[in-house]
Amino acid sequence: MTEIVHNLENIRLKIARATAKARRKPEDVRLIAVSKTYPAEKVREVIEEGHILFGESRVQEAVVKIAQLPSNLQWHFIGHLQKNKVRKALPYFDLIHGVDNYEIAEDINRIAEELGRFPRVLLEVNVSGEGSKFGFKPDQLRERMEALLAFQRIEIHGLMTMAPLSDDAEKARPYFTQLRELRDQLQEEFRLPLPELSMGMSGDYEVAIEEGATLVRVGTAIFGAR
Ligand SMILES: *Cc1c(COP(=O)(O)O)cnc(C)c1O
Repeated sequence: MTEIVHNLENIRLKIARATAKARRKPEDVRLIAVSKTYPAEKVREVIEEGHILFGESRVQEAVVKIAQLPSNLQWHFIGHLQKNKVRKALPYFDLIHGVDNYEIAEDINRIAEELGRFPRVLLEVNVSGEGSKFGFKPDQLRERMEALLAFQRIEIHGLMTMAPLSDDAEKARPYFTQLRELRDQLQEEFRLPLPELSMGMSGDYEVAIEEGATLVRVGTAIFGAR
């Protein structure tokens, strides 16, 4: 067994334990293998274990890699999407996690219309308030939600966040709780389903699952240090 396969099995086990602990159904949590920076050969090791869901954060890198791999895979865009990359990105990704400001949503909506697409997206929220992070501040998102929902071409499926980096996964918990509570409030206020919560990375995905994550984005814990 390769190191990567061993890591993947270990993570699958931990995800199963975390869902059981939280009394959630295992199928309600999906693992995104974050393959950014790793070459297609490494990704193949994971595909051979039956894994099909991958995350990339740079459009150009992803497009090259996707072309080298089987066509039955699912790719999520998890990074900060630049305005000038929207047109290139839309055909490749099943879900765009990082819609982090109103203007990019506007661009995605316009370009999706031109391309005849209905992209699925998550709205990125900066719950920690760290200046270095992308994303809507919670109050900003409440104010903008009506306008975001009015975009005809964008399907909003939920929220995404990144907790501040820390060696202690428990430190991330309050941010994950906040994202879930914000999601619950928005669902109620705007009377719509926002089923997806994308939160949790290599160091804190178990805590994220306990707090309601439906998508965990795990890179280094599978593929090794970048
Ligand atoms: C790189 C990245 C990840 C994965 O991080 P790891 O610490 O390697 O698990 C998750 N989410 C986003 C948005 C990323 O850019």
